[in-house]
Amino acid sequence: MKALVKAVRGPGLELQDVPEPTIGINDVLIGVRRTGICGTDLHIDRWDAWAERTIPVPMVVGHEFVGEIVATGANVADFRVGDIVSGEGHVVCGRCRNCMAGRRQLCAHTSGIGVNRPGAFAELIALPQTNIWHHRDGIDLDVAAIFDPFGNAVHTALAFPVLGEDVLITGAGPIGCMAAAVVRHAGARHIVVSDPNRYRRELAITLGATATIDPAARALDDLQRELGMFEGFDVGLEMSGAAPALHAMLAGMAHGGKIAMLGIPTVDIAIDWNQVVFNMLTIRGIYGREMYETWYQMSVLVEAGLDIASVITHRYPASAYREAFATAHSGSSGKVVLDWSDA
Ligand code: NAD
Ligand code: ZN
Repeated sequence: MKALVKAVRGPGLELQDVPEPTIGINDVLIGVRRTGICGTDLHIDRWDAWAERTIPVPMVVGHEFVGEIVATGANVADFRVGDIVSGEGHVVCGRCRNCMAGRRQLCAHTSGIGVNRPGAFAELIALPQTNIWHHRDGIDLDVAAIFDPFGNAVHTALAFPVLGEDVLITGAGPIGCMAAAVVRHAGARHIVVSDPNRYRRELAITLGATATIDPAARALDDLQRELGMFEGFDVGLEMSGAAPALHAMLAGMAHGGKIAMLGIPTVDIAIDWNQVVFNMLTIRGIYGREMYETWYQMSVLVEAGLDIASVITHRYPASAYREAFATAHSGSSGKVVLDWSDA
């Protein structure tokens, strides 16, 4: 089968012929239809220090996907050939304390598809049946393909109550933009999104931000005054991984404010802990999605009319992956989707 492979320990990816995956009795084999390009894939493509430390080579990359089941193992009773499904990309151990307690998203021994085990940028992917999410009938395949990052957005956006609250989102990447849509749907009042990238600020408005700010051009408290906000933000969603964004957020929170941190800093960030202590802030780290409460929430939010389709700004056939990756690297894009039907 055709697959996008990190073939050598250096920059770039290759569309290669690789052996088809085999399945065990508890596994499902999926014919991949569409995939989304994630920041993780860009790190692997670029071969930065994290990728060099983390990725064994050769590796089929990619983890955001939707496909159709083409075969099931003998123990699989809940899924059928033809089902439209996505996969939770974290394969958990099933035996650690958290797994045994039903808190699978807190597993200490996860293995990630497209990072530690073969990924989804391929004609076929095999996964344990416990990792399969069956989509509702009629789901838009492009939207289904990005349930993984949509799940990051939902998990973070709903970490704290937002009804009637003022929310600050730092970083208008695909996940920040989808988070704006989620908190808008959930009834937030002001939804301020900060990003130095103008293309992405405009995308955030399309998805539901009520105001945006270029942090390089304007101070956050100036915008807060213009909006008539006297007490700072109630909820902060950090979705950039950038130190200046976190510093601005900490300074802009109301007393008792709550921060959900999804962004992955690439360097150590020192913060003024006095702001945390005296303003009684809560900071909570968010990783992945809850298994499978977040997946349930995504399906029903889409059914209830939450529309995130406009975060997908570019679509390419899988064979045009070089162009697709260049678009995703450029920053002048939201989510970039690859179509595998011609592979
Ligand atoms: P992205 O890189 O596409 O978006 C990040 C955005 O932050 C960019 O648009 C960038 O211009 C903006 N930014 C940079 N400096 C900023 C600043 N000072 N203030 C405000 N914005 C600033 O990333 P994404 O795919 O949308 O993901 C968002 C973040 O979440 C990334 O840090 C990513 O690594 C992380 N992530 C975490 C998880 C998890 O499970 N915790 C999962 C996926 C992604
Ligand atoms: Zn575990």
